[in-house]
Amino acid sequence: MRAHEAGALHGDLGYTGPAWLRTPQDVNDLVPQLWPRTVRRTEAGALEIGGVSVAELVAEHGTPAYFLDEVDLRERCREFASAFGDADVYYAGKSFLCKAVVKIVDEEGLFLDVCTGGELAVALAAGFPAEKIGFHGNNKSARELERALDAGVGRIVVDSFDEITRLTALSQKMNKRPKVLVRVTVGVEAHTHEFIATAHEDQKFGFSLAGGAAFAAAVRILDEGVLDLRGLHSHIGSQIFDTSGFEVAARRVLELQAQIRDARGVELEELDLGGGFGIAYTTQDDPSPAGDLAKRINKIVESECDLANLRVPKLSIEPGRAIVGPAVFTLYEVGTVKDVDGIRTYVSVDGGMSDNIRTALYDASYSATMANRTSSAEPMLARVVGKHCESGDIVVKDEFLPADVQPGDLVAVPGTGAYCRSMASNYNHVPRPPVVAVRDGASRVIVRRETEDDLLALDVG
Ligand SMILES: *Cc1c(COP(=O)(O)O)cnc(C)c1O
Repeated sequence: MRAHEAGALHGDLGYTGPAWLRTPQDVNDLVPQLWPRTVRRTEAGALEIGGVSVAELVAEHGTPAYFLDEVDLRERCREFASAFGDADVYYAGKSFLCKAVVKIVDEEGLFLDVCTGGELAVALAAGFPAEKIGFHGNNKSARELERALDAGVGRIVVDSFDEITRLTALSQKMNKRPKVLVRVTVGVEAHTHEFIATAHEDQKFGFSLAGGAAFAAAVRILDEGVLDLRGLHSHIGSQIFDTSGFEVAARRVLELQAQIRDARGVELEELDLGGGFGIAYTTQDDPSPAGDLAKRINKIVESECDLANLRVPKLSIEPGRAIVGPAVFTLYEVGTVKDVDGIRTYVSVDGGMSDNIRTALYDASYSATMANRTSSAEPMLARVVGKHCESGDIVVKDEFLPADVQPGDLVAVPGTGAYCRSMASNYNHVPRPPVVAVRDGASRVIVRRETEDDLLALDVG
């Protein structure tokens, strides 16, 4: 959206943000789909989450900090599990992983995806059942594979011929027969509201379907007979709102499955369609409830199986963002407020691209609200920026905040449960914020705040 297009909408305000942004009158309102489910404004005007006000949370935990609504997270786990019924729902751990979340995911009956030895270590340290773990990655090392075999990981998603060679040799040496899926690159790329279906796939993940590598990989595994080939896997992208990309992906994977059956007389029993279900970062995003996704995806798989004359395989999905993303907000304290050219006001907070890289990395959009009080001041177009030495250090590109926002106010940014703490860095030697779970009027630290001692601990001089 260009500024001049938006100008027509809010011309009087000299508005230069995107036209879809909520109207300035709503500056104290919380749009429910953006916030963790227990978040509300108290009568005094401050936000609370899990029955605890931000004032108490800040007194105890400081800022910046990620606050996780445990009830919201558990409900989303349950909704996916019950909506997808017989399918296995793998929580994609890369979105956010720590021992407490592993335990919650386990208690709520989900499976778990990891994609490195580090993520596997967290899962095992939290006592997650190894047979319910799926192991992804385009470059798993021999050590990582050995550890997965040792632990008895339930599925290894093989991603290259080199990996097949490596895993086959290790399995023979260790006398194991791991269950594997072949990751297929189906030539579908989905991001937000659009998807592109092509024949060619220029990316690092998986075996190319169009080029014949996926077929060759499956046939090789079947012929060698060392690995236990359970099925095919496809993951088409992220922050997807429409199931049409899944339809094309399912059709292509199931055609391959039919081809494998025709060549080797083996009908694979499992199909993993990956994750990528979108969440609401702004009022423009309208995600489907898990129940609707499940209905559409099950229908797609059934009709595509019908077309390919296949039995309906056991389905798996791998949501990450859709489970943990909406359950968290980041709370910052405002440090400086700077009006630039009367166009826009830069509100600097005490974190930034080190705790949320997504805006800088993907041009992601977020929302924000003043969290410690309401205000009847004029709405003002603000850009929430961090404290890093980088002009791209933006947390929220465009948002209306009250014009009287000042140093010491708190700003909350919702939708930060996925790919924020997990992608956090120590850029500028800023210690990473804690993750605090809140529930039933009580908060508990599940990942503590980093300290300068932590930073210095690795610096051995
Ligand atoms: C990243 C990833 C997911 C999860 O994606 P979300 O957008 O968080 O749902 C699932 N499966 C695979 C293979 C992935 O790489």
